[in-house]
Amino acid sequence: MSSIAISLLDLEDDASSGLSAEDYQKKEGKWCAGCGDFGALNAVKRLLAKEQIKPEKMVFVSGIGCSSRFPHYVNSYGFHGIHGRALPIATGLKLARPELDVFVVMGDGDCTSIGAGHWIHATRYNTNMTVLLLDNNIYGLTKNQTSPTTPQGYTSNTSPKGSVLPALDPLQTTLGVANASFVAQTADWVPAHLYATLQAAYEHNGFSFVRILQRCPKFTPDVFEKQVKDPDYTELLVHENGVIAPGLDKLFKAQRRHDPKDIDQARALAQRADKLRLGMFFRDDSFPVYNEVRAVPPVSAEEKVSRLNKEFDRYAV
Ligand code: SF4
Repeated sequence: MSSIAISLLDLEDDASSGLSAEDYQKKEGKWCAGCGDFGALNAVKRLLAKEQIKPEKMVFVSGIGCSSRFPHYVNSYGFHGIHGRALPIATGLKLARPELDVFVVMGDGDCTSIGAGHWIHATRYNTNMTVLLLDNNIYGLTKNQTSPTTPQGYTSNTSPKGSVLPALDPLQTTLGVANASFVAQTADWVPAHLYATLQAAYEHNGFSFVRILQRCPKFTPDVFEKQVKDPDYTELLVHENGVIAPGLDKLFKAQRRHDPKDIDQARALAQRADKLRLGMFFRDDSFPVYNEVRAVPPVSAEEKVSRLNKEFDRYAV
């Protein structure tokens, strides 16, 4: 705690001159060389610097996994929670402290397996927070176990003959939940798109769900290899209300105009396995946001004590 406090004070001193992306880095990420988590951290730092979010005005919440080390590396308040429980922690936090910007970072094992129930309900609650699912298709921290998003047939320590079931698709699942208000996909190896997606997610008022396809050179080195080497295997979803990442036109020849308000097309595009798609699948800013519809007017400490005393008096004998 003391190191967080010291670094926050240092940053407050610097705030008048503006914070750079590097000012938001608390310490070097301890991930394997070439891990996609580095790219995600860089994009997050750029976003924080662009928005000049004060470190004491935001919280990073995570569960357990390689990517869940995020709160240790960002100069902000942080909550490295327990496995699969990042979303309920973040929801409670946002309800108690609505003025804070809440970011959630989870891996595929954390979110789509042990945390799956929370993921569904947090999506429906549509509490205002920016949610990053770093999906490398494997349990990396515990060294190579099949996760729900591991491709069928892929071998791991727990499936030495290959995963027997088709992989769960986080986009299709999220798009199937009532009140889902923001669903996007990006990739760690396309930094301009990753940054633009995070920007859109941060600006959205509601539960912004961003699946970041994340390279794990240690355990799933080949799952995105084709797309990393050849941009022709990727299709960009483009629209003025979608993810706007200038400069990618020349790189990605395959582009599809998709209105993010069209839920039917969003679901159809998420289901098709012909190409990997990056962009905004769905966005609707009109859906009810839980921390707004359930907002409780602030009460002073004195008023709270007075109400408690009144309640106790009802049972006085
Ligand atoms: Fe990254 Fe994979 Fe190493 Fe974990 S095991 S730090 S996900 S490369």
